[in-house]
Amino acid sequence: MRKLIDQLARTSFLTSVELLDLLDHMNEADIKYLHERAIAVKKDHYGDTVYMRGLIEFTNYCTNDCLYCGIRKSNRNAERYRLTKEQILECCEMGNTLGYRTFVLQGGDDPYYTDERIVDLITAIKTANPDCAITLSIGEKSYESYKKYQDAGVDRYLLRHETNSRQLYESLHPDMSYDNRIRCLTDIKEIGLQVGAGFMVGLPGQTNTDFVNDLMFLKDLNPHMVGIGPFMPQKNTPLKDAESGTAAKTYVLLSLVRLLLPKVLLPATTALGSIDPKGRENGLKSGANVVMPNLSPTNVRDKYLLYDGKICTGDEAAHCRGCIEKRINSAGFVVDMGRGDHVSYKE
Ligand code: SAH
Repeated sequence: MRKLIDQLARTSFLTSVELLDLLDHMNEADIKYLHERAIAVKKDHYGDTVYMRGLIEFTNYCTNDCLYCGIRKSNRNAERYRLTKEQILECCEMGNTLGYRTFVLQGGDDPYYTDERIVDLITAIKTANPDCAITLSIGEKSYESYKKYQDAGVDRYLLRHETNSRQLYESLHPDMSYDNRIRCLTDIKEIGLQVGAGFMVGLPGQTNTDFVNDLMFLKDLNPHMVGIGPFMPQKNTPLKDAESGTAAKTYVLLSLVRLLLPKVLLPATTALGSIDPKGRENGLKSGANVVMPNLSPTNVRDKYLLYDGKICTGDEAAHCRGCIEKRINSAGFVVDMGRGDHVSYKE
């Protein structure tokens, strides 16, 4: 196993057979070694720094019906909200004061937010915060829409592929197509936005072979960012009784992604911090180098409930900023409040 890990760390590549061998057969000591190699590779490119992004969850209306997600359209129990342009600008102002230089605007696929409204919003945020990067995460759009967002000033776009196994993807996403999801990712990349893909860990029926597909897909796409988090059930969804993914498996996959894509921007996600109280610290110790504290107004935070048990739903933005910084330091890393672009990214 160690030979394979060394080879992966040295060449940033393994075949799918070798990756499956690792996932199937690593023991605890091998996994510890894997995490050490992943931290070392992260250090080569980013030193001890961890980038901070201010997350604004600006709408939980959604036209999609993803079986796992608490804001799916069929969830009649979800209390819907939508922040106004003014509220979003206030979040950014607060974030800017706290030192953030990246804002991540995430939401359900909400038809109220037409391209025109998004462009207007982005223009306003960029005018008020010219030195800040904007990441958008609002789902599947046309090439033309992504291009409009970029022209308005969007720097990055997050769209997890969720799972690269077509059958599993299509069983979890009624009326959505795997091919369209992948088309979106290639369009975003072609346009020249920094692109983020990623997947959930521990979806019902997901196997190590599925994870190998995810890893090979990511190696091939070569995105700037990869979001990985454990699946966690939400009580008003069809998957309410399914078992969650595990933190331990997520750490392994974070390390494998770090070694396959050495320069990738890799967050220790909120879902990871929700499933394990030390999830974000351990994520950083597995090779992650980004955290995304919540900047949303406190009165809407408990409504953006993708899964049960989400952390930080009652905290103020300033509290999150301080809490996360302490956690990052305790894990042996330091906060970098810059824009935190991918090291190879040139305007
Ligand atoms: N509408 C946007 C944002 C979706 S929510 C889009 O389609 O990209 C952001 C991410 O949360 C999803 O991509 C998914 O990976 C994750 N997520 C949703 N429900 C979840 C759950 N029950 N457990 C863990 N992660 C979940």
